[in-house]
Amino acid sequence: MEFWNKDMETIGSGRLESHTVTHLKATVGRALRAPFYRKLLGDSGLSEASVTRPTDIDKFPFIDKDDLRKHEPADFLSVPMKQVVRMHSSSGTTGRPVVVFHTKYDIDQWTDLLARCLFMTGFRDTDVFQNMMGYGLFTGGLGFHYGAERVGALVIPAGAGNSKRQIMLMKQYSTTAVHIIPSYALHLASIFAEEGVDPRRDTKLARAYVGAEPHSEESRKKIEEFYGVDAFNSYGLSEMCGPGVAFECPEKNGMHIWEDRYLVEVIDPKTLTAVEPGVEGELVLTTLDRQAMPIIRYRTRDRVRLLADPCPCGRTHRRISRITGRTDDMLIIKGVNIFPVQVERVLMRTDGVGNNFLIDLDTVDHIDRMTVRVEGDSALFAADGGAARALEKRIVADLKSELLITPRVTVVPAGTLPAGEGKAVRVVDSRPKQ
Ligand code: AMP
Ligand code: ZN
Repeated sequence: MEFWNKDMETIGSGRLESHTVTHLKATVGRALRAPFYRKLLGDSGLSEASVTRPTDIDKFPFIDKDDLRKHEPADFLSVPMKQVVRMHSSSGTTGRPVVVFHTKYDIDQWTDLLARCLFMTGFRDTDVFQNMMGYGLFTGGLGFHYGAERVGALVIPAGAGNSKRQIMLMKQYSTTAVHIIPSYALHLASIFAEEGVDPRRDTKLARAYVGAEPHSEESRKKIEEFYGVDAFNSYGLSEMCGPGVAFECPEKNGMHIWEDRYLVEVIDPKTLTAVEPGVEGELVLTTLDRQAMPIIRYRTRDRVRLLADPCPCGRTHRRISRITGRTDDMLIIKGVNIFPVQVERVLMRTDGVGNNFLIDLDTVDHIDRMTVRVEGDSALFAADGGAARALEKRIVADLKSELLITPRVTVVPAGTLPAGEGKAVRVVDSRPKQ
C-alpha cells in the first residue's frame, strides 16, 4: 500500500491526540483575532488555555450557516485581508452568500489534502484527469484541479456540462480519471449511447470521483458498470474548504475523514451531545489547520454515522458513512443548495400570486427536475389564460436568478393546491431515495 503522507495517514491515536490539542489551541488563538470569535469566545471567557485535551472542544459553542450568513465575511477573518489570496462561496444564493477566504498556506494545505485523497485511490502522475465540475466560486472545480496537478497528473479543466465535448475530450486525450456529479454521470450515459460511444471499449477511463450531492450505493454501482471504472465517494463543504474533507479509500467502505485537519464530532441534533460510534447523527467539524478563517464546531447539518472500526487499508483516520440526509430543509438540486424559503421569497414578492405553493421534485433521465406550482388570482385565468402564462415566465426568470437553476412553474387557480391545517408541506420530493 502506497501513501501520499504515510506519517499522517497512519498516525497512532496517542500522537493524533497531541496533534489535535496543539492544533486546536492554535485554532482558538487564531480565531480570537477574528471579530466574530473575539465576541463569541470572549463573552464566555474561552481562550487557548481552555484546551488541554481534545474533548475540551465540548466547552465551545456551536455555529452554523446562519452565523456565517448573518455576519460580514470579514468578521471571520483572522489575518489581514492582504494575506488572503482566494475566496470561494457555497453553492446556492440564500441571502448573503457564505464566503470563505484562504491564505496561500490554506490553499497549499487544501491542495495537499486533495492530493492525499486522489493518491489513496491509486491516482498517479501518469493519469489524465478530466475535471467535469463547475469552476469558479464552487469549490469542486479548483479544489480537485490543484490536487490532481499536485500529484502530477495531466489535468483537463473541462468544467461542467457540454456533454458531447466531454466525450470527445475523453477519447482524444485518453482520460483515465474524472471528477463528476453522480447524477450527471448517470445522465451522461445516455449521451454516450446517442453518440454510439461505449466508455468501456472506446475510452481509457479507470476511476471516477463522485460527490457534491447525496447518492446511493446503487448509483455508484451503475456508474461503475457503465463506465467500467472504480467510483469513489468524495465529501466536502465550502465552509471546510470544499472537497477533501472525507474520501473513500480502495476499500470503498465509508470515507476516511482527515482527523489531522478536522476535529470530528457526531452529535444528536436535539440534545447536542455526542452519539455513540455507529449511531446516526449530525456531523460537526472544527478546522485544525486553517489560517484565514478558522471555524470551531460547525454544524454541517449533514447526517452521518461514524465508523470507528479499523480499515484494512491501514489508514487510522476514522470513516464516515454515506451522507444519509440533512437535519435542516436544505435541498440539493443538481448539486446546488436550495432552501424552500428562497422560492417563497420570490413568490411572495410577485404580484398576482396567492400564498399557497408547492415544490415538486422528481428525476427525469437521472437529472433532478424542480416544478413549482403556485396559486394565482382568478383574473389571470380569464380569456385564454395568457396572463397566467406570462406570469409563469416572469417567475421562472426570477427564480432562475435567485436559485441558479431553472425550475418549471405552473400558476394554478386559487384553492386548487392542498392546504393542510398544520405546518405547510412545501416540498414533495419524489426523487429516488438515497
Ligand atoms: P457546497 O458547500 O456548496 O459544496 O455544499 C456542501 C454540501 O453538499 C454538504 O454539506 C453536503 O450536504 C453536500 N455534499 C457534498 N458532498 C457530498 C457527498 N459525497 N454525498 C452527499 N452529500 C454531499
Ligand atoms: Zn481505508
